Amino acid sequence: MTGQLNLVVLGKQGAGKGTQGQRLCELHGLAHISTGDMLRAAVAAGTPLGREVQSVLDAGLLVSDELVNQLVADRFKEPDTAKGAVLDGFPRTTFQAQALEQLLGEGGIKLCISIEIANDLVIQRLSSRRICQECGTSYKDTDVAAISGTCEVCGGDVVQRSDDKPEAIQKRLETFDRDTLPLLSFYESRGILVKVNGNQLREKVAADIDGLLHGRGLA
Ligand code: ADP
Repeated sequence: MTGQLNLVVLGKQGAGKGTQGQRLCELHGLAHISTGDMLRAAVAAGTPLGREVQSVLDAGLLVSDELVNQLVADRFKEPDTAKGAVLDGFPRTTFQAQALEQLLGEGGIKLCISIEIANDLVIQRLSSRRICQECGTSYKDTDVAAISGTCEVCGGDVVQRSDDKPEAIQKRLETFDRDTLPLLSFYESRGILVKVNGNQLREKVAADIDGLLHGRGLA
């Protein structure tokens, strides 16, 4: 387990966790574990889990710790996690962080990358964000894929997320401050927290992250 490169990417909505997470996975052969994507896929597929969580997602609230902890534990049984994983959107509460630590064991998480971004930029980014319902790739409303409604990666439908609306965005930001911000000190106390300025172009954020991984001998 400890030979794996498991990375936690923390950050507010729209900070670029998904974009950077996907890129890191391709670069290092890691599995992308996005609990948000997994939950939205369940909603889109109309599974019992999807029906259970849809209203929680739409309201911008968090689903229960037990439910996501189990989702992630099951996901780590998949063979594509052999080299490790990028965790995007999980953990989101101290209880989830403790569960993940138990699951992966001591030293199981190599680094927690906090992508920091200002609230006004969050609102600006989320209101113009469109995502592929199938693979989770995100686009801007002015991108060709968003205008045509067809994902360039997998051909899936590109739509606006139902929680990327002003009321839900506000709620999600409040939830982040209350439940997820405490995770910064959790990971800092374990000596694995690094911070990246997310108010920059995605290429610059990527370069900063790669520099930090390199500096720690992880890439
Ligand atoms: P964002 O960070 O942009 O709000 P995500 O795609 O990570 O979006 O998550 C969307 C929604 O899915 C959250 O608002 C929440 O309802 C639910 N969710 C995702 N991950 C978790 C988690 N780890 N714990 C609880 N709820 C979660």
